[in-house]
Amino acid sequence: MITLKDITKIYKNGPLEVQALMPLNLSIEKGEFVAIMGSSGSGKSTLMNIIGCLDVPTAGSYELDGQQVQELSEEELAKVRNRKIGFVFQSFNLLARQTVLQNVTLPLMYAGTSREQRNARALELLGKVGLAERVKHRPNELSGGQKQRVAIARALTMNAPILLADEPTGNLDTKSSHEIMALFKEIHAEGTTIVLVTHEPDIAEHAERIITFGDGKVLSDVRKGSGRT
Ligand code: ADP
Ligand code: ADP
Repeated sequence: MITLKDITKIYKNGPLEVQALMPLNLSIEKGEFVAIMGSSGSGKSTLMNIIGCLDVPTAGSYELDGQQVQELSEEELAKVRNRKIGFVFQSFNLLARQTVLQNVTLPLMYAGTSREQRNARALELLGKVGLAERVKHRPNELSGGQKQRVAIARALTMNAPILLADEPTGNLDTKSSHEIMALFKEIHAEGTTIVLVTHEPDIAEHAERIITFGDGKVLSDVRKGSGRT
């Protein structure tokens, strides 16, 4: 699903250069649930931005669901981001003036789906994440855990095969965090490939594979035996 070959990333700010990713080789298969750990500055966000096609590597090749990403035009990339990847962030990134329902229908608006179909899909997903009673609320009327459920519903709207989550529990209390992880597990069980960044070992434990980063390199890559929960 995701194959990174000799990926490097160098940030240049005038004369300053930071190499955020050393030549990195990493494969994530369809249906995996991966947690990325590592100290601050180790390159996790850089990697997520590259996987999410939000940023381009300095060198190397990236194959996503059978497509060579570096060969795509801007327009094709935008389409890949919309169709192939759902994003979930630490700060939820919901539109404050829009209702829960409207927030979830947004990706379908961009895709040109009819209003009726958009609403039907959003209601289905909001039911799935346990927010059927909150569709007309605005984000500021929800708890943190509920906001993240809205963001997850939005990330699922397009039926993308990959879900990328950058510190999705970073702003949540322990109980909400584990509820959100339970929801990710459900989504994973239905076949979605999940890549999640976290600095909390308790959260990473929910994944099937834990990759630890340090200084732009993979320090360890551990797969759990299947069937463990
Ligand atoms: P993490 O997500 O693990 O905290 P990052 O990927 O954000 O790590 O950062 C990796 C390295 O790249 C760090 O040294 C960071 O300072 C540097 N870096 C990240 N983004 C930029 C940028 N836009 N410009 C310059 N340096 C950056
Ligand atoms: P959590 O522990 O998940 O962060 P909270 O303690 O913040 O939850 O919220 C508990 C309940 O109160 C939730 O069901 C939420 O819907 C409701 N709630 C929280 N903030 C608001 C608000 N500003 N307006 C309406 N309901 C709220």
